[in-house]
Amino acid sequence: MSQHTKILLEESEIPTHWYNVIADMPNPPSPYLAPDGTQVPADAMMAIFAPDLVEQEFSTQRWIEIPTEIREIYRLWRPSPLFRAQRLETILGTPAKIYYKYEGVSPSGSHKSNSAIAQAYYNKIAGITRLTTETGAGQWGSALSLAGSMFGLTVRVYMVKVSYDQKPFRRSMMQTWGAEVLPSPTTLTESGRTILANDPHSPGSLGIAISEAVEEAASRKDTNYTLGSVLNHVLLHQTVIGLETRKQLEKVGDYPDIIFAPCGGGSNVGGMMFPFLADKAAGKQIRLVAVEPTSCPTLTRGRYAYDYGDSMGLTPLMNMYTLGHDFMPPGIHAGGLRYHGDSALVSQLYHEGILEAQAVAQLATFKAGIQFAKAEGIIPAPESNHAICAAIDEALRCKETGEAKTILFTLSGHGHFDMSAYDKYLNNELDDLIYPEAALQASLSNLPIVSS
Ligand SMILES: *Cc1c(COP(=O)(O)O)cnc(C)c1O
Repeated sequence: MSQHTKILLEESEIPTHWYNVIADMPNPPSPYLAPDGTQVPADAMMAIFAPDLVEQEFSTQRWIEIPTEIREIYRLWRPSPLFRAQRLETILGTPAKIYYKYEGVSPSGSHKSNSAIAQAYYNKIAGITRLTTETGAGQWGSALSLAGSMFGLTVRVYMVKVSYDQKPFRRSMMQTWGAEVLPSPTTLTESGRTILANDPHSPGSLGIAISEAVEEAASRKDTNYTLGSVLNHVLLHQTVIGLETRKQLEKVGDYPDIIFAPCGGGSNVGGMMFPFLADKAAGKQIRLVAVEPTSCPTLTRGRYAYDYGDSMGLTPLMNMYTLGHDFMPPGIHAGGLRYHGDSALVSQLYHEGILEAQAVAQLATFKAGIQFAKAEGIIPAPESNHAICAAIDEALRCKETGEAKTILFTLSGHGHFDMSAYDKYLNNELDDLIYPEAALQASLSNLPIVSS
């Protein structure tokens, strides 16, 4: 074994600035639109978002300084380690090198804390005292609950009802940090009541929970809404992942040929890959691949169109890959990947052929995750297993061709709260859920019509 199994940075090497990919995109991002086709002004977004976050959302400045207060909290887990998966390489018998950036070291167990801390901070300095949000699998809700406790903000989390029932310990974790957690749909909002009137036993969805959280934030002056993925400012905050990784690879004199990251709303894809995009634009041969589930195949089977970010149509329309805002994802265990849409930035770069995407089936992801856990020790989040699965496939292709590629992936979180999913897999109770074409066409037929 070489000495480079674990590649660490000093605390002083925590990035001082986030990287804003908008400054370097070949084309400006598509505007956010209202249903009448007019551009949604920044002011309108300030009704539910902190002013600094809205400014970041539309900023074209390449580097945005990370406030000291945020870097101080980042020090709890950043810089996060980069590992070389040498034991996995040996087991696979591949000539490829495999690196992974481990974000499960944050107190909430995933990369989501990188943006949660920033969002709570900017709301705090704007005089906001309450935050609402949604959570599916619970990782974002946990991250925001942690951030709320650090800045003394009240946090209310609308948690998708199936997850609320399936993942009681994620709920306890949020409550430990002082958050209030409600199973969505609730009867507290108009959005929740509308859904329940149609389907009293609705299992909920991320789209519905977003509607509830947005509606509440819009109705109260002391309250803002926060989103754990998708929006430009969230991807911006996550670029600490890629910026650190670049430095870590430089330390060992290496550079990736291909990067994989699991893709739900696109925040860890953007966070890891955007800092490598400028190199690609400058002619560097590097492939950037977002990996999504076959059961929620937003990039690989969705349509590039204007759609709402929530179920009820309360958010602005975003130009993104979408399965349709009333898409009901099957109950797969990578809950963090069950979203109908995707980041507009990731969507545009994918549409322009700069990023690639690939879909993998549930059973293969658990098989890969378990192989990884046995080799490397860390039990990955089911979401992360998607990137692992793609990375192992690539390493095995290298074995066939004899190419000594450098493969890198984001290990976006640990799976300690997902052991019931592992349990089901180990007991042969999991299936591959392929999203049926007819259901996809049905939800796509309800895309909003934007007048021009
Ligand atoms: C939320 C989550 C994801 C997917 O979200 P992105 O915004 O696409 O990054 C992936 N992995 C983990 C561990 C998550 O918590």
